[in-house]
This record gives sequence, C-alpha cells and structure tokens, in this order.
Amino acid sequence: MYKAPRGTSDILPQEQAYWKYVEEKAASLCQLYGYQLLTTPIFEDSQLFAPTVAGGQIAVDKEMYIFEDRSGQKLALRAEGTAPVCRAYLEHGLFNLPQPVKLYYIGPAFRYERPQAGRYRQHHQFGYEAIGDADPALDAEVIEMARRFFLSLGLSGFSCQLNSIGCNLCQPKYIEALRRHYSSYTAHLCPDCKARLLRNPLRLLDCKKASCQKIAETAPRITDYLCPECQAHFQSVQQYLEALGIPFQLNYRLVRGLDYYTRTVFEVGPQEEGAQSTLGGGGRYDNLIAQLGGKPTAGVGFAAGIERIILNLKRQKIAIPALSKPIAFIAYLGEGAKIRAIKLASELRQSGIAVIAAAGDKSLKGQLRQADSLGIDNALLIGKAEVESQTVILRDMKSGEQKVIPLAEVAAAFKRKQKSG
Ligand code: AMP
Repeated sequence: MYKAPRGTSDILPQEQAYWKYVEEKAASLCQLYGYQLLTTPIFEDSQLFAPTVAGGQIAVDKEMYIFEDRSGQKLALRAEGTAPVCRAYLEHGLFNLPQPVKLYYIGPAFRYERPQAGRYRQHHQFGYEAIGDADPALDAEVIEMARRFFLSLGLSGFSCQLNSIGCNLCQPKYIEALRRHYSSYTAHLCPDCKARLLRNPLRLLDCKKASCQKIAETAPRITDYLCPECQAHFQSVQQYLEALGIPFQLNYRLVRGLDYYTRTVFEVGPQEEGAQSTLGGGGRYDNLIAQLGGKPTAGVGFAAGIERIILNLKRQKIAIPALSKPIAFIAYLGEGAKIRAIKLASELRQSGIAVIAAAGDKSLKGQLRQADSLGIDNALLIGKAEVESQTVILRDMKSGEQKVIPLAEVAAAFKRKQKSG
C-alpha cells in the first residue's frame, strides 16, 4: 500500500473547513491593508534560495528539495516564500510602480526536516511583504497585521517578540563580539553550536539547550552595537507600535537565521512554549533584493505556518463555521425512478440548488444511511408511484417526517428553505 511521503499529509474533507477559515481570514486581512495576491511556482531555480539559506535556518544542502529536470536545470521546491516574491518583483519590474509594493501569498513550502508535531516536510505558509521602502512605519504595519490576523482567527494568549539585528555596518562588529564571547566556552557548546560559531554565530543565541542558554545569557547584546541609523530605526518601530497599541516584548536573543535579514526581526507564538510552536515570524530584509541581482531595495514581511495555526485553533477549541453541504439527497427505487432522480438532480443544480443523487443499486435503507452519513438534512424519495403521479416524497432526515410534493414544486420548496436556512 502506498502512503503519503513521510512528513506530508493529506488534508481530508473534514479538515477543509479549518483551511477555508484560515485562508479567508488571510485574504480579508490583506484586502484590509491593501496587499495583493501573488502566486509563484512551486519550484524555482535552486540558486534563488541560496541567499535565503546560506548558513541559515534552512541548510541548502541538507534541507532543500533539489532536483535536476530532464534538461539538467537545477531546480528546488519552494523552501520559503520571500525569495520567490522578490524574484517576481524584479522579473516583472514591479520596482517601476510607486513604492512600496504590497504583496501576499499562500502556498506550500518544502523542507527536508525531521518530522515531528508541528514540523513537516511539506507545510503551508501565508505570508506578506512590503517591498521598496525602509520606513519603520511599515515594520509596525506588518507586525500589526500579524496581530490582527491571529485575533481575527479567535486565537489568544500569543505574544510578539521583537529585536533588531542591525545592518551590514553594525552587525559584523556584533558578530565579532559574539564570537569572542563564545570562544571562551567552546568546550561547553553543543555540537550544533560549535558549527554555528563557525558558520552562523547569530544563531548561537537561540539554541534551546540549557547549557548553551546559560552561555547566551551573558553574551553581548546586539542592541548595544547598533549603528545610529539602526538604533533610530528600531526606536521608531517601537514608537509606532506603541502608538498603535500593539503589545510586544523586546528579546535581544531573537535572531532569524536567514542571511538577508536586517534590522527588525519579530516572532509571534504562544507565550509559554518552545520554538516548534512559533506561529509565524518575519522581519526586514534590506539585503535580499540586491543579493538576487537587483538594486539595493528595502523590504519587510511576515510568514505564518497554516498547519500550526490550525493546531492552535483546535487546542483553543475555536468554533469554525461549517462548510455548506448539499441541501438534499435524491434516492430512488427501480430503473424508471432512477432516470427521474438523475434528471431531477440535474435540473435542481441548473437552478443553483446543490444536491447529491444516489448511485448504484443500494436498498432504500442503504441510500438513506448514506444521506445520513453525509449529514444532509433532506432526502427526496422517488419510486414507481411517484414517477406515475409526477411527485416526490420529501423526507426530513432528522425527524423522519415525510410529505408528498408535486415534482414541479421541488425547486421552489428548496429555494425557500435556502433563504430561511
Ligand atoms: P520560517 O520561514 O522558517 O520563518 O517559517 C514561518 C512559519 O512557518 C513558522 O513560524 C512556522 O509556523 C511555519 N513552519 C516553518 N517550518 C515549518 C515546518 N517544517 N512544518 C510546519 N510549519 C513550519
């Protein structure tokens, strides 16, 4: 028997109400803030993700799904959403539009990770980006949007952590200080952190191991190393957030491992839990577009994992609107009645009434059982007598009450029900 590949899942019909709910909230949030939908391919030139992943959160060699197509072109499944959006921004000359350009996306992302609760090899992200202006008010807007998104979903008990990781000018000096601090503790570092010290020292700060956390506690703080411009930018972001009434916690150990992040970084998640529970994160990436071959262009954005959001909706027992179901199930007995049934189904659908017609040669009892398991409220029963008298039996599936109605009145009866229901 085949199974879905490890770390991937089927989203079954009974789960779809959650997905629709989250996707609709995402779309209406973006509509509210004037962010437009951009859909990019599932795979890209693998080099596109190189700046994204270099020594960062996603290890290019280990975590990316890279393959060669038949022409020998090296492609990668989308590992994250920001680089493809920036690629499209450059490819379609969106820099010629008045800036900033505001875009959002919803789609799958692929990372070859060790699957566990809340961590999969294929997951889905909703993200949005404001590209083309370094205004700190945009950082505040993007953070406010994240908060409004989670609140609109009905989620509570999450917090926003905020930090600034500086720019090309000030970050290298900080990294030097960080290296110096950690170098005197190398013997006590976990194997991952030993590698981080060489490749990506910023990530030393968010190691979850208790022994490494102790070393992080006494590490120098990035905020003491910011250049005057980054300092002023960070202050402005905080002032805007305060003006907007957005609660946040400064966390000088918050870093985002991707190379292209500059200045603002932030993360939203449940207050008490660890990294696996982070709902979303984002920040400013003023180096990315230049790394992709464009002119230096500022950008700020956010991405959230939809599976993790749904886990939290379930954990917090948030009531989700049910998906609409067909209004009636049409059952028949005998070949003559079957023709009448499938014709009736077709005519009702023609007038916009959703119905399911029975199929096969189940007993009437079997057909009603099917209607019941589909959760459909009404059944229309057609037998030989109904064919002859041009009627149908309308059965209320909950009460079992039945009445005979003329065939010609079925559509109008359901139209009335649809209006009142
Ligand atoms: P990132 O692109 O790593 O900043 O991820 C953005 C968000 O996507 C995270 O905050 C998570 O909610 C979600 N996410 C990231 N990686 C995974 C994964 N492997 N499985 C499920 N969700 C993920």
